[in-house]
Amino acid sequence: MKAKAFLPLAAALFAILPGCDKPAKPPGTTQGAIKPTAYTNFSGDRAMEDVKAIVAIGPRPSGSEGIEKSRVYIEQKLKEAGWEMKRQDFEVDTILRGKIKMSNLRARFLVPGKDTWTRSVTTLACSHYDTKWFQTTVFVGANDAGSSTGLLLELARATAPLKDFSASLELLFFDGEEAITGFTAPVGFSDTRFDGLYGSRHYAKELRKVPENQRPKYGIVFDIIGGEPLEVEFPDNTSKRLSALAREASDALNFSKHFRAAPAGAAMIDDHVPLSWVGMEVLNFISLGPFREYWHTSADTIDKVFPKSIEITGRTGLYFMERNLQQ
Ligand SMILES: [Zn+2]
Repeated sequence: MKAKAFLPLAAALFAILPGCDKPAKPPGTTQGAIKPTAYTNFSGDRAMEDVKAIVAIGPRPSGSEGIEKSRVYIEQKLKEAGWEMKRQDFEVDTILRGKIKMSNLRARFLVPGKDTWTRSVTTLACSHYDTKWFQTTVFVGANDAGSSTGLLLELARATAPLKDFSASLELLFFDGEEAITGFTAPVGFSDTRFDGLYGSRHYAKELRKVPENQRPKYGIVFDIIGGEPLEVEFPDNTSKRLSALAREASDALNFSKHFRAAPAGAAMIDDHVPLSWVGMEVLNFISLGPFREYWHTSADTIDKVFPKSIEITGRTGLYFMERNLQQ
């Protein structure tokens, strides 16, 4: 996905991210007595079946036949797991490719007596599902974005039996995360030159119409989490408080060696950025590590994705969310 760029200009980027790292509780404190359970339901092998099926479709850039096939697959799997689905359609004008129709895929649980799409949820759990468009290279995006798409589908199944927890979530599959050309540092909603993050920017823009106290509080993004060795680094332009809580969760599961905070100044341009613009506290699970060598190349194939890495990320993410983000 991402702009995987570690920006030297992190200070400048921070200046435009007023929403991130809201003070709430001191780092390292948890919010209470919830005993996490959903994480034990998460199976990396089951997620891998979805990754394989999605990657077998071939390239899935925004506006392609491939991405429409992946939409149908994602929607079918979510419905099988008991989730309600809604497409958020929009059109963008892009550099090189002109106008492209895109669609974010939203999933929520039905809560009797409440409207599914206007009731409040606490947390957005997100992945992009488009793959980067190339003129000549055949790019199937197994790790970027296949792995996190599979993770989110398995997260849907793992949380479905836990009614309170699943009702607190919206699962969000972003279209258009990838830049057509290259990422540039976004300077807000009015920056029409910015390429990439089309789906998350559109979603955040729509969210501005919702009263602030009814918006989700947390935006948790998963991206490129299937490689080995797994080295999740929480970018510096995400919440320090949430990063500390997620690392606490990894300690509890004996996965701590796979999770760390990125060095100071190592910001990342990814789908969490527009969510932070609308006041959400954000975190991004992303593991570039040695995969950096294959990132955005034709070598990002299914052999670069490991069920164990998806499972470690999924279980840690679920433990962290169930324990800390339900209120
Ligand atoms: Zn990418």
